[in-house]
Amino acid sequence: MHDFDLFVIGGGSGGVRCARMAASHGARVGIAEERHWGGTCVNVGCVPKKLMVQAAEYGAWAQDAAGFGWCGLEGTHDWNALITAKNKEIERLNGIYVKLLQGSGVKLFEARATFIDPHTLQVGDRALSADRIVIATGGAPIWPTIPGTELGIVSDNAFFLPSLPRRVVLVGGGYIAVEFAGIFRGLGAEVDLLYRQKLPLRGFDEAMREALAEALTAQGVRLHPSVLLDRLEDIGGVRRLHLSDGRQFDAETVFFALGRDPNTAGLGLDKAAVAVAPNGAVIVDAAHATSQPHIFAIGDVSNKLNLTPVAIAEGHALADRLFAPAHPRDWSFSPVPTAVFSVPPLATCGLTEAQAALRGPADIYEVRFTPMRHIMSGRCRKTFMKLIVDQASQRVVGAHMLGDDAAEMMQAIGVAMTAGATKQDFDRTIGIHPTGAEEWVTLRTRTRTVGVQAAA
Ligand code: FAD
Ligand code: NDP
Repeated sequence: MHDFDLFVIGGGSGGVRCARMAASHGARVGIAEERHWGGTCVNVGCVPKKLMVQAAEYGAWAQDAAGFGWCGLEGTHDWNALITAKNKEIERLNGIYVKLLQGSGVKLFEARATFIDPHTLQVGDRALSADRIVIATGGAPIWPTIPGTELGIVSDNAFFLPSLPRRVVLVGGGYIAVEFAGIFRGLGAEVDLLYRQKLPLRGFDEAMREALAEALTAQGVRLHPSVLLDRLEDIGGVRRLHLSDGRQFDAETVFFALGRDPNTAGLGLDKAAVAVAPNGAVIVDAAHATSQPHIFAIGDVSNKLNLTPVAIAEGHALADRLFAPAHPRDWSFSPVPTAVFSVPPLATCGLTEAQAALRGPADIYEVRFTPMRHIMSGRCRKTFMKLIVDQASQRVVGAHMLGDDAAEMMQAIGVAMTAGATKQDFDRTIGIHPTGAEEWVTLRTRTRTVGVQAAA
């Protein structure tokens, strides 16, 4: 008899849900967290990031209000007040996570857990055994291997800076770089974004990437495409950047947003004979089992789709499968809606135009407009929406949007797409007027057809 039926390593999005659900199904569950309950999302990810995006948006909204007759709303921003309020909210959420776990009967350990053997873990100063073990240790920001790397910061640091940097350079063109460019710029910093592709957000729909680059420029972010950072130098407290194209410039803060590595170093996976990929990701099958059938991995540590709702769904599904197999909750992992909280936000669900074209003929419907609010505010903030429809089945296989409330809208579009909605279903849905969202159901004229060659 082991100490636990299930032991979860990591109290983040995936681990907490898995532990809670397993305990609610009657299992004896333990969970170890070495740093902060709630993991990346709650402490140094989605939640504080979104609060900071909202903080950054207020400055522009205050300026916009002048177009609606409001006078004197513009002012200065107090960074310390923001960070203090954000920290207070995160502390509240940490407490909620602990209460949820305790309320479900999970035994909590505030300690690092590592493998001693396939069924035994070193948890702080004690050895604990479990019938089954879940690895939910998440990931950590990647630091570049360039001279002067220690002069930069990563996202973990960005939430706790002592003051708003006056000039920030973000290195990378992914989710975090784009989101923090909007945050720092919105709060008043000078911002440069360096990335190695021609456009930010590789993998997203090409036209959306182009529109995002225009929106970033309209916000005042300086873009530096197709370039690498070769080295960093400290010149009397200023960071001097040496770029691959020979340019140099100076900044107060250099922020690396170069992706995240799975958190498996020092976990003792070799002692449990758990196989990992060359980048350290735990290799799992469709049921999240590792090379050891009683050890599982969920969330970012398996490095598939590194998003909080995916980690939560994987944790929940695994707990159901192990301890309540008669009533498993059915999750759909394709398509997965996602959003980048840029200024304005970019949200997407399903295939890009290029992906759809490879599968056969697809009709593209696009609309670009200036939202009613911004006609009055005078701010250069446009909306771009796009639907991709598979010609043969008439199913909507891709939806993309850059513009106000894109993330909020895409959640609902995701439901329609998961249910297999066709273009005709969108067309027969009555709109809500006056909204930007009604454009999704009034896209009458096909902009173009792609993928005809793929079918030939
Ligand atoms: P994590 O949440 O990282 O949890 C892993 C936990 O394990 C950590 O708390 C860690 O301390 C603990 N741990 C590690 N090793 C051990 C050990 N040996 N013993 C004990 N504990 C250990 N996703 C979204 O969907 N939307 C967003 O808006 C979003 N924004 C993000 C913004 C940023 C800046 C970042 C970095 C990420 C963001 N993400 C977002 C991604 C999201 O945070 C992750 O996908 C999600 O947190 C993954 O959950 P997880 O449970 O796999 O890992
Ligand atoms: P991403 O994978 O999104 O982007 C990494 C960026 O770094 C890419 O532009 C990549 O370029 C670039 N890069 C990687 N290595 C190098 C290098 N050696 N030199 C130059 N550029 C390099 O990672 P992030 O760090 O932005 O975010 C990590 C993950 O966290 C995301 O992928 C996402 O899963 C999650 N996240 C989700 C959010 C959300 O849901 N809103 C918000 C923030 C994070 P290239 O494209 O050429 O490879």
